Amino acid sequence: MNELHGQVAIVTGASRGIGKAIAEQLAAKGAGIAVISTTSAGSEAVAAELCRLRPDCAKGYALDVANYQAVETCCKQIVSDFGRIDILVNNAGITRDNLLMRMREEDWDQVLAVNLKGVYNCVKAVTRPMMKAHYGRIVTISSIIGITGNVGQANYAAAKAGVIGFSKSMAKELASRNITVNVVAPGFIDTAMTAELSPEQRDALLKQIPLGRTGKVEDIAAAVAFFVSSGADYVTGQVLCVDGGLVM
Ligand code: NAP
Repeated sequence: MNELHGQVAIVTGASRGIGKAIAEQLAAKGAGIAVISTTSAGSEAVAAELCRLRPDCAKGYALDVANYQAVETCCKQIVSDFGRIDILVNNAGITRDNLLMRMREEDWDQVLAVNLKGVYNCVKAVTRPMMKAHYGRIVTISSIIGITGNVGQANYAAAKAGVIGFSKSMAKELASRNITVNVVAPGFIDTAMTAELSPEQRDALLKQIPLGRTGKVEDIAAAVAFFVSSGADYVTGQVLCVDGGLVM
């Protein structure tokens, strides 16, 4: 139960959905959690919930992961508040879907800024403390769309494919310091991000999923928990699809 006791994890985009489930699962395993979202209200509410389960185990921080300066300042604050950073989970993400013909330049830029540059920003900011400690576990939440592509999601697919290449490069660069870098690629998970699908779209999708159901946020959190566990000490540069068999 207390496998991560004494470790500190940053979880971006943890005010709801998949990120919140990851924060809950890592906290349940004993880690201290830095909860990040764009608003103090969102991140502090989740931190307060976690602290009700285990006093003083979490703190909320508000920032835009696309802003390098803000990310660096926040990571320094987290080291000052918790004393260390062992785990980074890059989960924050957005969609701005449209067919390329109708996709505005700002929708392309914003998705790439949050979903791809945000990952670069966070990894760069935690690398120094992790290298010093000769230990680090970095997990990035991509998407099966980054592997398959999707109509109306060229910006999202490009960013989610980008984090896979980026993570494999980081896995090679950071391995000598005992820092592992892995990716979880969720399929269709029930969250606010996917709530907009019509019942028809949903039914069509379910027919393609071999396990016959959509995923739960806990399914993704469990995969992240594996990558940061001692059972995954010899695993780096990997992409784990958690998608009910949709992509194989
Ligand atoms: P969600 O419910 O929309 O939550 C997104 C989270 O990211 C929120 O906490 C949000 O914070 C935060 N966020 C957004 N922009 C941010 C920024 N610029 N800086 C910091 N935080 C930011 O999303 P979700 O469905 O849980 O998805 C989480 C991750 O899984 C995303 O990377 C997504 O692409 C990926 N994914 C999801 C699915 C799925 O089926 N749901 C499938 C594949 C991959 P605020 O509360 O402040 O807005």
